[in-house]
Amino acid sequence: MSTIIERFEKIKSKITSLGFNKPINIIAVSKTFSLDYIKPLIDHGHLHFGENKVQEAQVKWLETKKENQNLKLHMVGKLQTNKAKDAVKLFDYIHSLDNPKLADALAKYQKSLNKNLNYFIQVNVGNEIQKSGIPVGELDAFYNYCVNEINLNILGLMVIPPIDQNVDNFFKTTNTLNKSLALENLSMGMSADYIAAIKHGSNFVRIGSSIFGSRS
Ligand SMILES: *Cc1c(COP(=O)(O)O)cnc(C)c1O
Repeated sequence: MSTIIERFEKIKSKITSLGFNKPINIIAVSKTFSLDYIKPLIDHGHLHFGENKVQEAQVKWLETKKENQNLKLHMVGKLQTNKAKDAVKLFDYIHSLDNPKLADALAKYQKSLNKNLNYFIQVNVGNEIQKSGIPVGELDAFYNYCVNEINLNILGLMVIPPIDQNVDNFFKTTNTLNKSLALENLSMGMSADYIAAIKHGSNFVRIGSSIFGSRS
């Protein structure tokens, strides 16, 4: 068995052993790795993959998705508005929805392309200087706009905790915000902190290096 599959299966059983009864979706974040390298996990039957750049994802996944229509592709990185059309064409989930201009563009293109994507709103918990994520104070209004004005299918919130900080507080706060909006899905947790994220209610974990190895 390939190392990638062994690592993936180990993570899966670790998650199962936590004993939560709701399904936890593992997004295998394959950014920087070639399709050849990722392929064993596709052949293994895994369906959810994540990328953080539209162009790289197009090269790797446009044809692959045509050949395997069950594959689900997740955009986990910062999305520029001028890439919205290409993103709608390729992705099934977008985890980085964080401003009205981007939301408008996505709504426009999914209408014209007759697609209906799933979205997570990325929230900037703690309002640190990092650029991505909608500030907590604007979250309610933005959520209502996305759902009621432009009909985006919002699954839940997404957060990336800043490095060197206590992740528990960030996950806990994000879970509370998610509940306050009556949302039922959460995109939290990466290789270093997915167990903590799941304990705080996450059901979409975005795992790269623990599956594929370190990125050069
Ligand atoms: C790269 C990336 C991940 C995966 O990170 P690992 O630490 O390698 O698991 C998860 N989420 C986002 C947004 C990323 O850019």
